[in-house]
Amino acid sequence: MISRILIANRGEIAVRIIRAAKELGLKTVLAHSKADRDSLAAKLADETVCIGPPPAVESYLFYQNIISAALATKSDAIHPGYGFLAENWQFADACRAMKIRFIGPKSSVIRNMGDKSKAKTLVKESGVPVVPGSDGEIDSLQKALEVVERVGFPVIIKASAGGGGKGMRIVCEKKDVEKSFNSAAYEAQQAFGDSRVYIEKYIAAPKHIEVQILGDKHGNVLHLFERDCSIQRRHQKLIEEAPSPIIDNETRMKMGEIASKAAQSVGYDSAGTIEFLYDIETRQFYFIEMNTRIQVEHPITECITGIDLIKYQIRIADGDKLDFSQDKLKITGHAIECRINAEDPEKEFNPSPGKISQLIVPGGPGIRIDSGVYPGYSIPPFYDSMVAKLIVWGADRREAVDRMKRALDEFYIEGIKTTIPFHKEVMRNRIFLSGQYTTDFVGKIQNQGV
Ligand code: ADP
Repeated sequence: MISRILIANRGEIAVRIIRAAKELGLKTVLAHSKADRDSLAAKLADETVCIGPPPAVESYLFYQNIISAALATKSDAIHPGYGFLAENWQFADACRAMKIRFIGPKSSVIRNMGDKSKAKTLVKESGVPVVPGSDGEIDSLQKALEVVERVGFPVIIKASAGGGGKGMRIVCEKKDVEKSFNSAAYEAQQAFGDSRVYIEKYIAAPKHIEVQILGDKHGNVLHLFERDCSIQRRHQKLIEEAPSPIIDNETRMKMGEIASKAAQSVGYDSAGTIEFLYDIETRQFYFIEMNTRIQVEHPITECITGIDLIKYQIRIADGDKLDFSQDKLKITGHAIECRINAEDPEKEFNPSPGKISQLIVPGGPGIRIDSGVYPGYSIPPFYDSMVAKLIVWGADRREAVDRMKRALDEFYIEGIKTTIPFHKEVMRNRIFLSGQYTTDFVGKIQNQGV
C-alpha cells in the first residue's frame, strides 16, 4: 500500500499532487531544486528534500538523485507530474527496480507511446484513424520526397521524440523539403537527443481535440470526454475548454470509444490523453499522439465530470479497480482554463520572471485556481513560465465565459507581466465566442487583429 509519495516536480502541479495525497491521508515528500526552496509546494509538503542545483538537468531530470531521495525518505511511490521525467520510461523502470511505485503507466507503454511515429503505427493497427503520412520515421531525403509525393503539400515534419511543439517544420514546396528535413532533425537532436523525424500531411487550421482516459490494472479503460485545446501559440496551449463547443454528441462518443480502444490495445493503466486533430470542414478526426501522464489542462475535465484525476492516478497505481463505469459518467456544465504565464503577450510572449509584489486572486462561485505562487514569491528564471491556472465552471458555456471574464478582472498580479490581458481579449473575441476557432487563432489575432 502506498503511504508516502515523493513528488518529483515543481510549481502548481506539485501543489496539486500534495492536495490530492493529503485528502487520501497520504504523506508527501517534495523533491526540489535549490531554486525552489521557498516554493509554495515546499511549504505545503510534509517533508522536503533538496535534489540539486537550479538547472533541471542537475535536479528535476537527474533521476538517480530523485531515486536516492525517495529511498532516503522511505517514500514508497513517486509522482512525476508532467514534463521533466513524467514520460521517461528508463525512470519508470529505475523506480520499479528499487521497488518504488511509479504513479503512471507501465514503462513499456511509456516507451512505445513516447515514440510518436511508432505510436501512430501501433494505434493504426487497432483501427484508429491517423493523419496520413510516413509509416514510421524518415531516414533519408529520398524517402521524405517519396512520402511528400504520395500525400501532397503542405506537409509537417515532426520529431519522433517530440514534445512542446519542438522539432516541427511546415513545408509547402518541394524545394524546401531538404532544408526543413535537416533543420527539424537538428532541432530534435538538440531538444531530445534524438534526431529521428517523420512526416504528416499538414491539416490546415484544424481543432486540437483530446480525450481524457483512465485505465486500471484490471483491464478497465474509460474515457472522460474531450477537451478543446485549439488556442495555442507556437504549438503550445494557452486556453482549453471542456466540452468542445462544436463537437456533437455522436462524434464525442465516437472519439471517446476510439480513444478507449486505442488505450486498451496498448494495455493502458493510468490517466492518459489521446490527442486528435479535428478537421472542421470534413468533420474527420485523426490521432496525433498519446500523452502517458497527467496533463496541465486536467482540471477542466475534473470540473465537468466530478472525477479527481490525481486521486484516481494514485489509487490505480496502488492496484485499485475503477469504481465507476462508462455509463455512469456524464458531462455537467462547461469549464474553461486560462494559463497564467509570466510572459509579456505584447512582446511575443517573452518570459517575464521576477518578484510578485502583490497578488489578489479571484474567488466566488465556480472558480478554481491551481497555482504555485504567493505574494512576495520570486519566480525563478530556470523553468517553465506558467505560474497559475485559472479554471472556471459554469452551468453552460455562456456562464463559463462570463465567469472567466469576471475572474480575469479580479485577478491582480503586480511585479511581472502576465498573459491575463491576452485572455481578456480572447474572452471578448467573436470567433472564440462562436466556438469555431482553430489552431491558427492566436496567429490571426496577432497578425490580422481578428
Ligand atoms: P507536441 O508533442 O510537440 O505537442 P503534437 O503532435 O501534439 O506535438 O502537435 C502539437 C500541435 O501542432 C497540434 O496541436 C497542432 O496545432 C499542430 N500540429 C501537429 N501536427 C499537425 C498536422 N499534421 N497538421 C496540422 N497541425 C499539426
